[in-house]
Order: sequence, then C-alpha cells, then structure tokens
Amino acid sequence: MTSPCIPKTLRSSVRASKLSVMPELPEVQTTVNGINRYLRGLKIVDVWTNYKSAYHNGKNHIKNYKFFPIFKNKVVDSKIIQAERRAKNILIHLSNENTILVHMKMTGHLLYGKYGLQKRGKDETWVAIQKGPLRDDPFNRFIRLVFTLSNGKHFVLSDLRKFAKVTVLPTKDIPDSSELSHLGPEPLDDDFTVLILENRLNRRPNCVIKQALMDQTLIAGIGNIYSDEILWASSIHPKVPVRSLKRKDFVAIWKNMQVILNKGLDFKGDSMSDYRTIDGTPGKFQNEHRAYRRTGKPCTKRGCKGTIRRMVIGARSAHFCDTHQKLKI
Ligand SMILES: [Zn+2]
Repeated sequence: MTSPCIPKTLRSSVRASKLSVMPELPEVQTTVNGINRYLRGLKIVDVWTNYKSAYHNGKNHIKNYKFFPIFKNKVVDSKIIQAERRAKNILIHLSNENTILVHMKMTGHLLYGKYGLQKRGKDETWVAIQKGPLRDDPFNRFIRLVFTLSNGKHFVLSDLRKFAKVTVLPTKDIPDSSELSHLGPEPLDDDFTVLILENRLNRRPNCVIKQALMDQTLIAGIGNIYSDEILWASSIHPKVPVRSLKRKDFVAIWKNMQVILNKGLDFKGDSMSDYRTIDGTPGKFQNEHRAYRRTGKPCTKRGCKGTIRRMVIGARSAHFCDTHQKLKI
C-alpha cells in the first residue's frame, strides 16, 4: 500500500523508489562539484528540518530532535569554505572549523535554488519558487532539510524515504571519525595502483567479487550499479571468489574501474533511481548501462550473442552476461 505521506500523483515514483540505489562515487562527486561551484563563500543564516523524531534519541545526527539545536548552533553564521568527498560521504567544511557530513543513503540528494516556506496549519513545506526541475521533478519535492544562505537562496536535501544521515563534526576529527575511519582507499586517487587493488580485494579471498567490490572497507565509493558495469567490462562473473582471480583479472578490474567511474562523472552520475544533480536535473549515466537492470536484453559487447541475466548475491541484484561472463572457478 502506498504510504499516506506520499501524494497519489507520485505513485509511479514510489514504485521506482522500491528499486532505489544508493548514490555512488560519481553521483556523490558530482554533488560535491556542484557545492564547490555554487556555494563557496556563502554564509549559512538559518537551518530548518522536519527529520526530527524521538525515534533517533541519543544519536549524533539531525534526526535526533535533541541533537538538531546543537547542529544548528554549530553551523549557523559560518561560511561554506569548500566541499570534498570521501567514499559516499559529502564533507562540507565551514569557516568555524566544523564540517557538515552528509550521507545521502538511498533516496537523498542535495539541491540548490530559491525556495519558499508554505504553511498549512501545523504543516510546513518548502517549495521551489521558480519553474523548472527543482519544482517540477517529483523526486525533488521531498524537502527534509533546508539551509538558508546569505544570498537569499537555499541549499536543501530532498529525501523520499528519509534514510539520509546529516551531522556535524570538528574538521580535525573527521578522518578518525566512526563515519570515515573504516573506509578503504579511493579508486580514482593517483596512487591507487593495480597492486593496491589486488591487496585490498585479497583481504577477503573467500568473498565473491561482486560483494568485495562493494565492500567500503576494501575500496571506497563503489556500489551496485558501477560494480555490475565494471565486471561486465572485465568479462568476470559476479560470483567468482576473489581467491580465483588471476593477475590479468585484477588488471582488467582496475582499468575498467578507472574508465567507468570517470565515465559516470562525465555523465554527471546515474539518475535511473532518485539521484539528481544539484540544480535538480538528472545525470545521464543510466543511458550508458551495459549490464545494470538490462535483464533479458541482448548483450552489447561486440561479437557476443549472450543475454543479460539477474541473480541475487547477498540480498543485492547482480546483472551479468550469460555468455562472456562465464563462472570459471
Ligand atoms: Zn556478453
């Protein structure tokens, strides 16, 4: 049954949201690039949220109604210096040596524009003022968090299913925080070599490669979409255990990881699910899929007559070609 908090007009969106996927490295980096482009130097003059609930009591994030005033106190009147990405986390560094940490989780995405507050009885809703994707795309209408900025515009978080996490930490404590300290290396860093990839994956020799690629403690930033695409391009079955991979397989995975993550960035991320860029427009990587959610379609690898299949691995879907990604153990 459709949740009563979701308008009838959004039924198709709600159906889609059941298949929600978490933004991965290219989506999170595109958002960070947008923050750096539009928000640097602006002061936060107010913060509003309707995330607050007693259910999150005791947690150090803004869904805890006791923590939100602390959050507000630490961010209001400070300037946005710059944003950076670590794995799937967005770090927004402030002038007062605090950092806002946002993990968009399944359906969250950050947007920037001019918004107005509408009040109906006790209900308060933020609505984009100008015509365009911020107002017209249904995925952009679930505004849970609003930063009012010194230029009169707003930086907001739309989050249909309310899974996102937002907190604030002293900037100096960020690397050793419980949110970041467990994360593996960044695959697009200059010093991320084939050898490092091989060593990281070999920490879980019995793990199947699909799950190992998505394990944030081994390598940071890769999830369901890009792991499927990397394995398709590398001609490796998603269920191959890491211990069975040969050197040439690690080389192929490393090379395709660089190519595909950079391609995701070039296309401003993947908007098959809820993710949108900071101006509310969709990314376009969903048009480039060769495996992800192409179940039953012919494989597009040159010379391959296979079909894309779907299998469940560890409660997640994997999509692969039944011909050029044979299971060889
Ligand atoms: Zn194929």
